[in-house]
Amino acid sequence: MMEQYHALKQQAEGCLLFYRMGDFFELFFEDAKIASGILDIALTARGKDSGDPVPMCGVPVHSAEGYLARLIKAGCRVAIAEQVETPEEAKIRAKKEGTPASKALVKRDIVRFVTAGTLTEEALLEPRRANMLAAICDVRGSIGIASCDISTGQMILQRCDPLDVGASLAQIGASEIVAPDGFEHAVDDVIERPRGDFGSDDGERQLTHIHEVKTLDAFGDFTREMLAAAGGLITYLDHVGRGNLPLLLPPQLRASDAQMAMDEATRASLEILTSQQGGRAGSLVAAVDRCVTGAGARQLADDLAAPLCDLDAISQRLALVHYLHQDPLLRADLREVLRALPDIGRALGRVVAGRGSPRDLGQIRDGLAEARRIRDFLSQKSDRPPLLEKLLPIMGGHGALVDLMQRALVAAPPTERQNGGFIAEGYDAALDELRQVSGNARRAIAALEARYREDTGIASLKIKHNGVLGYFIEVPPKHADALMAPDSGFTHRQTMANAVRFNSLSLHEEAGRIAEAGGHALAAEEAHFEDLTAQMVRARQAIAATASALARLDVSAGQAERAAEGDWCKPNIRDDTCLDIHAGRHPVVEAALAASGDRFVANDCALDIDDRLWLIGGPNMGGKSTFLRQNALIVLLAQAGGYVPATSATIGLVDRLFSRVGASDNLARGRSTFMVEMVETAAILSQATERSFVILDEVGRGTSTYDGLALAWAVVEAVHETNRCRCLFATHYHELARLADSCDALSLHHVRAREWKGDLVLLHELAEGPADRSYGLAVARLAGIPKPVVSRAKSVLDKLEKGRAETGGLAAGLGDLPLFAAAAEPAEESADAKLREKLTELDLDSLSPRDALDLLYELKQAA
Ligand code: ADP
Repeated sequence: MMEQYHALKQQAEGCLLFYRMGDFFELFFEDAKIASGILDIALTARGKDSGDPVPMCGVPVHSAEGYLARLIKAGCRVAIAEQVETPEEAKIRAKKEGTPASKALVKRDIVRFVTAGTLTEEALLEPRRANMLAAICDVRGSIGIASCDISTGQMILQRCDPLDVGASLAQIGASEIVAPDGFEHAVDDVIERPRGDFGSDDGERQLTHIHEVKTLDAFGDFTREMLAAAGGLITYLDHVGRGNLPLLLPPQLRASDAQMAMDEATRASLEILTSQQGGRAGSLVAAVDRCVTGAGARQLADDLAAPLCDLDAISQRLALVHYLHQDPLLRADLREVLRALPDIGRALGRVVAGRGSPRDLGQIRDGLAEARRIRDFLSQKSDRPPLLEKLLPIMGGHGALVDLMQRALVAAPPTERQNGGFIAEGYDAALDELRQVSGNARRAIAALEARYREDTGIASLKIKHNGVLGYFIEVPPKHADALMAPDSGFTHRQTMANAVRFNSLSLHEEAGRIAEAGGHALAAEEAHFEDLTAQMVRARQAIAATASALARLDVSAGQAERAAEGDWCKPNIRDDTCLDIHAGRHPVVEAALAASGDRFVANDCALDIDDRLWLIGGPNMGGKSTFLRQNALIVLLAQAGGYVPATSATIGLVDRLFSRVGASDNLARGRSTFMVEMVETAAILSQATERSFVILDEVGRGTSTYDGLALAWAVVEAVHETNRCRCLFATHYHELARLADSCDALSLHHVRAREWKGDLVLLHELAEGPADRSYGLAVARLAGIPKPVVSRAKSVLDKLEKGRAETGGLAAGLGDLPLFAAAAEPAEESADAKLREKLTELDLDSLSPRDALDLLYELKQAA
């Protein structure tokens, strides 16, 4: 057995091996130690291998799913080795091969791998989250990514720049990533597969084969790197399914410029799908999601993770939300029907993967029937928006299939199929007859029991059934003698302490009828099941399209509901670079405040080409971060095609959204926090365009005051001069206010605070102009720093401020600094040298402001 085990373990390639032994999956050696630790189950030992006891643990087969779920969550992958023949078959085989029957070992094989990205089991999946698998590879310097949710079969192909690998993968949020051996672009935790799996020709061949088409042209214009990634993905799926491919829908092309770009740091800091704590609670999606189906919630998450950049597509989504927003009755009706829908997409995923149950077929049937009713109901409405017009036809068209399933399946089919009972009466006359036979026989057995009681006079005589004996007659021991008599017509089968069991010819005959008819009936049901499954599989694309149309309806209705609930408005999206938000709110903070009975203070934001950079000061806890984020979230929500928490919002399409938070708010990830901050800021400076929107929160604070101020200063200048994007920059450096003199599209703002009777009152209200002071000590007092410490700090501060007044402060002299030169080209040798000379000669301290300005003009002219 150990030999067999080791051979299988070899094939398991680093996965934990679940080795089937009877009613248990057993794990041995290292696997047992790992699994027992994670699952908190007993680690035992069994037999010996090279003289040492073999560590072992096991889980019952019937409850294996729960254990699998925990192992997968803990980051393990599992190979399932099943017995692929019965012990009887093993004995027969052994006999043929000439080995003694006692040594016959049941054949086992790995039937599949269970990995985080390839789950289809309902119990292992979260209903409201997509479960993505991604494959990534490079072809001559360009990166291809194929991703799919195999629980629904959706597959997306995209290409990206090597620099954007992190951002693209962050958008997909895959739970498992495969890449060719030695893939060099920094990606954590990839599963390496042979490079040969990632061939573009193979990828194309596999896709055309799966979708039974000659070319992929109808699906999109896919590039070599996309097809190579698709090849890697499909080969991996084939490997983990041991030749059983899951549901794969035609690949969709995701053009990189169709989406608003957001990198990983931005996604994390905006807490789009998960909060900084790691869960869904506290995230944007949790605050927005009012979907009533799992599929809708998954679609919404996808919308928020990939907001659009296409004016027309956004308007279409918005128009549908608007349609449902202004008709609360229609919305309520629709949501009520949607709420009862089964998860068609995931049931289909299981059916196509060969792990469908009669219940799955029933769910798809009911879902499709309901979709048709929803279509009919919506078709009666007038003034339907274009997106709805597009969705309606996709929701029907399954008449024949639904009709067939309605005739074939009982109303509520079971999840198990081995006991039958899921094919409806009237569907198959032969099956009905078989059922009639066993029904009759059952009635005959009941009649036999009554007759035997009467004949023997034993009132306690019973006819029972169990798995070992089948049907038998049972009497208490004191009555057994009467039935033991040779001419009684009963044959003795078993004597127990409190009962004696018999058989009889009539019982034997009836039981035989039941068994035979039952066996035939089961076989007939099984055959029907396979046939019905095949019909569903054939219609998979149309079924999946219906499922996603329903999901889109749910998202739109949910967005409309959310808008109505929170008094949100329909954003006005334009093709320019303005950002004009009236009375904007932060959906997550607002909800948190509301929960504790507090009110959120709404604030305006008005950026445009002439006033595109707002520098925001004010005390800690004053609401700077909240203001920055709420505007980024409003942009994101709008471009995802939903309403926004504001009274009005006019938004010029944003091509890239950046959000950066100063180091000390961030978790260290191996690198020093300041290093992280700078790396992330560097990305903005190199990527932000005039159409981008950037929020920078206390950037520069991860280092010493001087360094920090200097960097913040230079970053603001560069964003203003070079990137020229819309930007909100929160800072506690008062000195930066001086930039308003040199940067004409920059303006100063602050969050208001007031000291009242010695207490600090944070108004959370944004106002124009620089912050008057920092209120740091007042905040400290508010936070509970002991009074003596605060007064000591006050005297230190007074001293420092006196020093500052005398020396001109931290930023003394900065006013003289020439403005950051955009894309500074190396100047001509001679001009450069001249300038240098002039500057060295300069005595700054003796220069009046007027002289300095004149000098600047002069220098500029010379340049
Ligand atoms: P800062 O970035 O200025 O330190 P935050 O934005 O982190 O301040 O806000 C601190 C706290 O103040 C938030 O957790 C929230 O409870 C509250 N707050 C922020 N903005 C508002 C607002 N507009 N209305 C009401 N409360 C707010």
